[in-house]
Amino acid sequence: MTDQVKYVLEENLIPKFWYNIAADLPAPMAPPLHPGTGQPIGPDDLAPLFPMALIGQEVSAEREIEIPGPVREVYRQWRPAPLYRARRLERFLDTPAKIYYKYEGVSPSGSHKPNTAVPQAFYNKEEGITKISTETGAGQWGSSLAYAGSIFGIQVDVYMVKVSFQQKPYRRALMEAYGARCVASPSTETDAGRAVLAATPDSTGSLGIAISEAVEVAAKNADTHYALGSVLNHVLLHQTVIGQEAIAQMEMAGDYPDVVIGCAGGGSNFAGIAFPFLGQKLRGGKDMRIVAVEPTACPTLTRGKYAYDFGDTGHLTPLVKMHTLGNSFVPPPVHAGGLRYHGMAPLVSHIKELGLVEAVAYHQTECFKAAVDFARAEGIVPAPESTHAVKHAVVEALKCKEEGTSRTILFNLSGHGHFDMQAYTDYFAGNLEDRDYDPAELERALADLPNVAAE
Ligand SMILES: *Cc1c(COP(=O)(O)O)cnc(C)c1O
Repeated sequence: MTDQVKYVLEENLIPKFWYNIAADLPAPMAPPLHPGTGQPIGPDDLAPLFPMALIGQEVSAEREIEIPGPVREVYRQWRPAPLYRARRLERFLDTPAKIYYKYEGVSPSGSHKPNTAVPQAFYNKEEGITKISTETGAGQWGSSLAYAGSIFGIQVDVYMVKVSFQQKPYRRALMEAYGARCVASPSTETDAGRAVLAATPDSTGSLGIAISEAVEVAAKNADTHYALGSVLNHVLLHQTVIGQEAIAQMEMAGDYPDVVIGCAGGGSNFAGIAFPFLGQKLRGGKDMRIVAVEPTACPTLTRGKYAYDFGDTGHLTPLVKMHTLGNSFVPPPVHAGGLRYHGMAPLVSHIKELGLVEAVAYHQTECFKAAVDFARAEGIVPAPESTHAVKHAVVEALKCKEEGTSRTILFNLSGHGHFDMQAYTDYFAGNLEDRDYDPAELERALADLPNVAAE
């Protein structure tokens, strides 16, 4: 029997369109609101931060949005990404289930994030923007945007959460190798950063603070725009190349998933693999289960409240309706930095409320255990975030074994862990802690949610 099977699409099968699930939703989304007026925001409110092409995508109801030629040209460097049948893992688990995974770690920065960094840099360039400011947690988004900026000749300034800046020097070096400037956040460069430092001089930062800094810089400088690596509709849209390719690859395999799995931080790689399948289902296609996986330390979909909240700590962003732990919630430190965001993409939150997707949460040590089994069987070391998807795929496969039934499982392996090997070192040394979030901290942060009349 063949071992691991790889399904490779021809280059001309890179999708020509992004898939916009807004066209197929059974109920409309709640509109984003202006933080000052509480009224729905319009394109002009977002114009200081984003190019018009992306604002248009943010509110579009068109099912297919054409991928510009120059973007497809860059995608060619690593897309179509491979899809594998994990036969060695199946044998290791001794399961009748069939396990497939889509591997996004083949991109230059090692994750799915360049799928959106590249079009974002492209549209900004088209609009004459010379500089983009952004935030990064663990550094995956910062390095992906730095890469995209280097391709289109845009200066990228990255506000990196201070604790990661100190703990992940190689991600920072990667950003600098691509020509970006990387600043530890909170910094003295912005009002938002200075305010935090005045109150808490030894602050180790958070994603919410770093977003406030990056947004402020873009809002104050006409030549500078802001870019976000997850959460927003246009980001999720760009990631749908993942699921579209996976549909074609599952067809090559003569198979179709019974369950589709992705880890969820802001929700973009999850949406990327899931939305094209969900769209087929909503248009009358085959049924399947869709599962989002998150850390118990930051359980946005499983424990958060569905409410209007700010995307950042400094309250500069629009109010969006989403599953949130509260914008002032500080999750305990876990290695999956990309899953430590207080909110969730409004689109993912909406379909969760509609009952179209399930969510589960796991502790980090059980995720690393599954990831090590996976690495030994399949040869790829998952990113700490991706270990959550691996864990749930294993759980589903073992359930099949218990029931004596075969199901087809597909998960997205959103990235490799080569820059995060300290997490594995800690795991092997028995130093990984399963920290739960503090219920009192959650209650406090939720009590802090903004009052929104429209609710
Ligand atoms: C950033 C990141 C995530 C989490 O972000 P989403 O928007 O939820 O996809 C997951 N996996 C990897 C490898 C990442 O870099």
